[in-house]
Amino acid sequence: MSLPVLQMAEPVTVEEDPLDLMDEIETLKRQQDAAILAHFYVDGDLQDIADFTGDSLKLARDATRIPNPTIVFCGVHFMGESAKILSPEKTVLMPDLQAGCSLAESCPADRLAAYQAELRAKGHDFQTVAYINTTAAVKALCDWIVTSGNAREIIDRVPADKEILFVPDQHLGRYLSSVTGRPMILWPGSCMVHEVFSIQDLLRAKRNHPGSIVMAHPECPANILEISDVIGGTEKMRKYVASIPEKKTFLVATEANMIHPLMKLAPQHEYIPVPGIMTSTGETCACNRCPHMARNTLQKVRDCLKNRSPEIVWQPYFAQAQDVLKRSLLQ
Ligand code: SF4
Repeated sequence: MSLPVLQMAEPVTVEEDPLDLMDEIETLKRQQDAAILAHFYVDGDLQDIADFTGDSLKLARDATRIPNPTIVFCGVHFMGESAKILSPEKTVLMPDLQAGCSLAESCPADRLAAYQAELRAKGHDFQTVAYINTTAAVKALCDWIVTSGNAREIIDRVPADKEILFVPDQHLGRYLSSVTGRPMILWPGSCMVHEVFSIQDLLRAKRNHPGSIVMAHPECPANILEISDVIGGTEKMRKYVASIPEKKTFLVATEANMIHPLMKLAPQHEYIPVPGIMTSTGETCACNRCPHMARNTLQKVRDCLKNRSPEIVWQPYFAQAQDVLKRSLLQ
């Protein structure tokens, strides 16, 4: 007699109540005197429980100013690294150490070092300017670090007789070169989220919302920036929408979670993520969500506080990255 074949059941993930998780996080945070920092691209729930929200520049500065000995950084790996580098005495916990960044990964330190050596051998006299979305090992090879919030000011600090090698985002570099008038050697990197905006969807959305304002992050490709009314990082977007009292429709070309802080700050407006609702099918398109930022969850925030892990641990090359980060972001 043959026995029936038993099917192995799939492991069941138990969804925990978000409100219970928030309570637990609050208690753990108080017990450990911890502060939660959250980037504008993480889920709205995490932004709501955070003590500080912001872009990379603001959060890096916040990390140095707060008195709490423990930081939970809801963002991606290079952000946690920057917080640790600027505040080595603090414990920097991350909900998920696997939260990387496609842009940072597009510029590995060994390839950058080889390219710098090749340029020098060809007689180029340059300084390397890196977007903050780079690993600490890459930052250690650079002269300046910029964010979308301070890029113009930092580029003005590069001596006029030097060439500029800009890494890793080619779109941001091209945009900065056009607004500063400084020619740049561009590293061919880009962000997987900002690359996917469809020009057709954006043009269709503009046509369907006459009078709308297109707001784009400078990490977007040139064809998106060319038809944008406002180009800037997330803090600039916030300031812009807050400065307009009457209701407007904004078509927002950046990570879709950015709508959350915009809505909180200026709820009088309508915000449509690009491509947002696909006009062709009426379906919601989630392709402008960052899968790395999405690794941050309430459950993981609770767990990392509870276990005091995972943690960003100091590495020897952080010391060199510290010099360039301090010079660029804090002075
Ligand atoms: S949105 Fe792009 S640049 Fe930002 S963390 Fe995600 S992959 Fe990196």
